[in-house]
Amino acid sequence: MSDYRNSIRTSREFLSPNLTVNKWEDILPWFENLLNRKLESISDVQNLLQNRSELEAVLEEDFAWLYIKMSCFTGNKDYAEAFNYFAQHIEPQIHTHSNELDKKIYQSPFFSQLPDVNYLVYKRNLKSKLELFREKNVKLLAELQVQEQEYGSVTAAMTVEIDNETLTLQQASNLLKNKDRTLRQQVYAKIHTRRLQDSEKLNALLDRLIEKRQEIASNADFSNYRDYKYNEMGRFDYTPQDIAEFCETIQITVCPVIDKLHANRKQKLKLDSLKPWDLEVDINGENELKPFKNTTDLISRTIACFNEIDPSFGDYLTVMNHNGYLDLESRIGKAPGGFNYPLYESNIPFIFMNATENFHDLVTMVHEGGHAIHSFVSKDLELVDFKNLTPEIAELASMSMELISMEHWHHFFNTEELKRAKRKQLEGVLSVMPWVAIIESFQNWIYTHKNHNLREREGAWLKIFNSLSSQEVNWDGLEEFKANLWQKQLHIYQVPFYYIEYAIAQLGTIAIWRNYKTNPKQTLKQYISALSDGYSKPIPEIYQKAGISFRFDVDYVNELVEFVTDELDKL
Ligand SMILES: [Zn+2]
Repeated sequence: MSDYRNSIRTSREFLSPNLTVNKWEDILPWFENLLNRKLESISDVQNLLQNRSELEAVLEEDFAWLYIKMSCFTGNKDYAEAFNYFAQHIEPQIHTHSNELDKKIYQSPFFSQLPDVNYLVYKRNLKSKLELFREKNVKLLAELQVQEQEYGSVTAAMTVEIDNETLTLQQASNLLKNKDRTLRQQVYAKIHTRRLQDSEKLNALLDRLIEKRQEIASNADFSNYRDYKYNEMGRFDYTPQDIAEFCETIQITVCPVIDKLHANRKQKLKLDSLKPWDLEVDINGENELKPFKNTTDLISRTIACFNEIDPSFGDYLTVMNHNGYLDLESRIGKAPGGFNYPLYESNIPFIFMNATENFHDLVTMVHEGGHAIHSFVSKDLELVDFKNLTPEIAELASMSMELISMEHWHHFFNTEELKRAKRKQLEGVLSVMPWVAIIESFQNWIYTHKNHNLREREGAWLKIFNSLSSQEVNWDGLEEFKANLWQKQLHIYQVPFYYIEYAIAQLGTIAIWRNYKTNPKQTLKQYISALSDGYSKPIPEIYQKAGISFRFDVDYVNELVEFVTDELDKL
């Protein structure tokens, strides 16, 4: 697999064409070259940035291949060893030397003269990164990273027994789609009883994480971790206050629609009360949608679908397919999940997923396909830094392709199935937003209420959950489950505050889809133009280029939610 990149590699201007990375010593001279330069003009700085970018492209692609190969073949010891070697012996050195380079560039008097039109985002991120740095946080951040992983070990060990079979909680939750209500209830109870067994442990872990995070924030002169984290994530295009208002807006605009959908569900399923285990089953008693037969079929249907949207989109997938840059089928010895991995030197991204022929896999395919389009159209940007996307932009590209491609899903479904598929997709678009708002609001509470105790935290959770979750779902007798629901959300433990981006991008995708339905040609032009900027412009500018607003106010959100509900009514 590693041979592909060598044949596709773009030309190098700075590095030797023979450079391959096997050990740190292979790279050191190139870092030294960059670090020893005199910066005597703005063009010296720009030249340094370009050469550095070429080096980063090679290093990031090398690391990417190690990660991809390991994910595709988890049982291969050589792949695992090669990955670990890079991570342990090369990566830390890169990190240290990159930091030195950052400082050198930032301290140059020409740094501030880099023109805003291309460098504004780069400059504000570098400035914030260096200003947040505190020597005493280095150790704390390393410790934090280790502690965060404890969440993974606790939850990975969670299994339940169903019909004498041991299932992971994820496998078990698949059974919540089953038509047999008694089975669903049993499965739900088993999953949540299992979660409760570790609830004390997970509460204690969160306490330790909060304490450490607040300490890191305070060391960097922030009064709370939320404000520190906003800076660390480079969130300069919106404030915590904007997000608090967005969460309220979701409550006002989206929640009533979800209540209606659930009321309809209750009626269709002929239930006296809708319980949490009744939310996944098909309301018409239909079997699962099967959009394709196998991964070869998935590829050819997706290419046909993308071709119909824009021939260049189909071409991108065809190139990836011909070069072996698609590994889609689920098989033993493959890591879970799905991703599109951009490769900055060969300039062709790699899509990894675990398709098992269901509806969700189609959505994943077109979603990752959207990320891939992004990689292709932004490949010529001057710096790798400009291609390091922020999720509000990256997910706008991928989630928009879910809705744009939906208009062409006749490549996967007959007329009747297509209606069901669209319903499913649109209901998903809306129902994700309240949950994101719940998790965001809860984290916001956690880090702005110092020294809270467990009882207060539970109280805050229930208040937030009750205000943003469906009023139609009956939790009687399930109070203990409800009080601990947040513990299933990995982000709270491992990537705090990284979540609201999904609701932001989701809103943007509805706006793009609305444009596409009235003027597909123009919308695609705007979509491509926005994507080709990578993250070299502030988020509002990119959204504007995409033909949409970057707003969270009630009027705007309401308008978009109404558009979705009108479309749902037509189905
Ligand atoms: Zn994505």
